[in-house]
Amino acid sequence: MSPAPYKNEPLTDYTKPANRKAMQTALATVAQELGREYPLVIGGEEITTPDKLYSYNPSRPSEVIGVFSKATPELAVRAIETAAKKFEDWKYVAPAKRADYLFKAAKLMRKRKFEFCAALTYEVGKSWGEADADTAEAIDFLEYYGREMLRYAQKQPIVKIKGEKNELVYIPLGVGVVVPPWNFALAILAGMTAAAVVAGNTVVLKPSSDSPYTGAKFFNLMREVGLPAGVINFVPGSGAAVGDILVAHPLTRFVSFTGSKEVGIHINELAAKVQPGQKWLKRVVAEMGGKDGIVVDDQCDLDGAAAATVASAFGFQGQKCSAASRAIVCEKVYDKFVAKVVERTKALTVGDPADQSTYMGPVVNKGSMDKILQYIETGVKEGGRIVAGGARADSDGWFVAPTVIADVKPSDTIALEEIFGPVLAIIKVKNFDEGLDVANNTEFGLTGGVWTKNKKKAEKAKQHFHVGNFYINRKITGAFVGVHPFGGFNMSGTDSKAGGRDYLLLFMQAKLMSEKIK
Ligand code: NAP
Ligand code: MG
Repeated sequence: MSPAPYKNEPLTDYTKPANRKAMQTALATVAQELGREYPLVIGGEEITTPDKLYSYNPSRPSEVIGVFSKATPELAVRAIETAAKKFEDWKYVAPAKRADYLFKAAKLMRKRKFEFCAALTYEVGKSWGEADADTAEAIDFLEYYGREMLRYAQKQPIVKIKGEKNELVYIPLGVGVVVPPWNFALAILAGMTAAAVVAGNTVVLKPSSDSPYTGAKFFNLMREVGLPAGVINFVPGSGAAVGDILVAHPLTRFVSFTGSKEVGIHINELAAKVQPGQKWLKRVVAEMGGKDGIVVDDQCDLDGAAAATVASAFGFQGQKCSAASRAIVCEKVYDKFVAKVVERTKALTVGDPADQSTYMGPVVNKGSMDKILQYIETGVKEGGRIVAGGARADSDGWFVAPTVIADVKPSDTIALEEIFGPVLAIIKVKNFDEGLDVANNTEFGLTGGVWTKNKKKAEKAKQHFHVGNFYINRKITGAFVGVHPFGGFNMSGTDSKAGGRDYLLLFMQAKLMSEKIK
């Protein structure tokens, strides 16, 4: 039976008392299981090691979310070998059956949605709305990639000729190393893993060291729906210590990575080196950072532009690869725009995201907080003017006040480097054309947008603004699976589109079969 047509998972309406109660109950229930120990799981075998990885609540850093056995180099190798062995039968499992595991997982995740949301709130500091969006996106990936696999399993169109029966089928690649970030601790981890697995590959999943608990929840969900042991091997551990071993192993066929530019470049280089005994060139799918800008024209709805900029800059504390970190504003409306952004920014609530009224929670860890504060200092040193925030927000946790720095020059450090925190740089330009040039003036090319009422300018921007996800008169975050296939250009990655029709091809190869007939 074919599944119903794909549609996006609706976001939760928290004005409804029943939904509020459900989230509160989930927060209380999940709080009960915090601090537990979790094993590595290789080929279905649960393994504990003496060296532990602790996940902490960034709102209250003394609160341990979970304790994880860290992989050793030997276990990393064993995980790859186990996945390679399992690949030999998983690759023959019918695509429809593989897709079915994803549909079952989506159904179960939907049923336990608030539990996943609560996990995200505790482990990475997501507000109720942000946690809900992350969970909905994870469900979407499962539903979407399941259907995509069914599409790729259908008869593929090729040109017919006389005297031959020709057929093209998509087959999997082999063992994949899946390395997700913590910022969409559920959605990206689930999406990357599900895509690889539904395409017929087996994987070693190394969750981010900042969010192994959410990763374990997803892994356990896949076990619950009966995914055979060894198809996903759950291997927490430090990226630096075991990441290289996983990436370099000669049995690794591909790496699916989402994270920073620096780590992406490193993985790409390491994977390119052919190891003794290796029989293929490894494929690397890397989705990396951004320095996303919004160009604000002098012919635009300034209130709308300010609201969209603030939402894009400070949603989930600016820790989205798509977050607006630069507002590039035409001089005619510059002062007015700055004032509107400041007013909205100062109205944002910062605090524990377990509290429904919180808009902005903490940043993910102390290292991240220190780095963000350092960037703010650099911004000021280079001539920027703090007009909102600018310091650690008053609390025990890793809170940074939403910060707006005006009068930033296009060549300043904070106009070029990814900060990955709640810091918006505002840059003044003469006109819209100069704004486009400044927008393109980084090594990244992930998201970007323009606010203008002028159709000609919008058309020009469509052509010249070199980003994978370009938006007009709306916020530049919040891509929906299937609706806004997501991924960037240049140093933002390998030009893949998560949640799009091309994505599964990255995890497969095409085999052509030709038979002589009478
Ligand atoms: P990160 O520091 O690069 O880490 C990402 C993952 O790589 C983590 O699981 C990390 O493990 C692992 N890792 C680190 N060193 C490794 C190595 N030598 N070999 C293999 N794996 C290694 O990035 P992050 O802080 O988690 O995420 C934020 C970044 O992701 C930002 O730059 C953001 O723009 C980007 N991002 C991009 C997209 C996109 O679609 N383009 C989406 C989301 C996020 P450990 O945690 O153990 O170090
Ligand atoms: Mg944490």
